[in-house]
Amino acid sequence: MVTALGRVQSAQQVALARVESARPEMSRLNRQIWEWAEPSLLETRSSALLADYLEARGFRVTRGVADMPTAFVAEWGDGGPVVGILAEYDALPGLSQKTETYKEPIREGGYGHGCGHSVYGVACVLGGLAARDALVESGLPGRVRVYGCPAEELLIGKVYMARAGLFDDLDAAISWHPSDKTRASLGSSKAMVSVRYEFAGVASHASVSPHEGRSALDAVELMNVAVNFMREHIKQDARIHYVITDGGVQPNVVPPRASVWYYIRANAHEDVEAYLAWVDEIAESAARMARVQLVRRQMDTDCHELIPNRAMGEALDRALRLAGPPGFDESERRFAEEIQRSLPARPAGPPLNDEIAPFDETGSSGGSTDIGDVSWIVPTEQFVAATHAVGSPGHSWQITACTGTSIGEKGGIVAAKTMACATLELIADEDLRSRARAEFAERRGNRAYGLLIPSDQRPPIPMS
Ligand SMILES: [Zn+2]
Repeated sequence: MVTALGRVQSAQQVALARVESARPEMSRLNRQIWEWAEPSLLETRSSALLADYLEARGFRVTRGVADMPTAFVAEWGDGGPVVGILAEYDALPGLSQKTETYKEPIREGGYGHGCGHSVYGVACVLGGLAARDALVESGLPGRVRVYGCPAEELLIGKVYMARAGLFDDLDAAISWHPSDKTRASLGSSKAMVSVRYEFAGVASHASVSPHEGRSALDAVELMNVAVNFMREHIKQDARIHYVITDGGVQPNVVPPRASVWYYIRANAHEDVEAYLAWVDEIAESAARMARVQLVRRQMDTDCHELIPNRAMGEALDRALRLAGPPGFDESERRFAEEIQRSLPARPAGPPLNDEIAPFDETGSSGGSTDIGDVSWIVPTEQFVAATHAVGSPGHSWQITACTGTSIGEKGGIVAAKTMACATLELIADEDLRSRARAEFAERRGNRAYGLLIPSDQRPPIPMS
């Protein structure tokens, strides 16, 4: 008699073999998306490539979900538990880079996969397919759902997908991220709002008739000064940063328009809400001081901090150990070593991490992720896999370079295997799902998931 555990284990072996045989596909698909390197919300070809790939292999695909043309949901199966795999595929500006060990853009100032999202998306798709193949072969009842999530770099995709209710019926969600190490963790992230303020004043000759003008730029500057004083009285974990996106055109015209774009972050969403209210008041007060109007306040996104889940994290840790380390070779180590010469200080240890680190209890990057929003709706966890040279800075040409080579692809294979194995365990093990669900309920407590974005606001899709 085959035990339930034995059934999962043999299904996982099927999934591991499927991913192993998909190495050429990993390379082909990653290379393609890496070369396209499309901006957030304009990932048209990358999104279509992954959605088409799943559709051609039997997944039911819904495109353009949550008012975003480059978002999709791909599902296989009927009935049973449903596990979501969250894929990303957007690139970053200014990080175009050849697969060289010195800085050499393909297109000067162009986009590049400096966060590794090309291999990220492909690993999710191959992992989902392998889990499906194993379900078919084992006869285990369950569904695999791959989410095509655009614009993670702007923390937009999953927030609007969450608002559309696309994660509501999941039993669990998993994801990963490219890194210089391979491990599962219990980390969190910062909640964050992205909000733009636009002021309107009165133009006049700045020397002949300054008394007739009212400077919108004055309001922006007064606002920024006040926020910088505000910093003294906010919690240590909070972060507020801004850029002036419009400060006028030339000095002899009193600026009739000016705009500033803020990110406000903290470890808890409720703190972000409080600081946002404070910054809003400062904006209104600055307008009054400068005798101009605050004409627009637009919130692009409102992202929640990640609610960690130990039961899910430990499942990912088990799956990582089934997947095994990337298995980098000598030429890849030499490539990474050369890359490290560009860093201010050469990191200690080997240039590529080729082992699975112990489960990390505290890992937190200080950044934000829109996976946080999914984690407020269903038990969610993510892990990292080594896809680039140790010590490469986040969002860097060094990461773009490594991601486009077999280094990135080997990390992607580890990630695909891990997600497939974890998906199977979550589908087959009812006890694991209920422990994850109970922990989720306890950690979230009575906090409701709510968004500060106006309910009728559509995603801020840029003109291509
Ligand atoms: Zn990223």
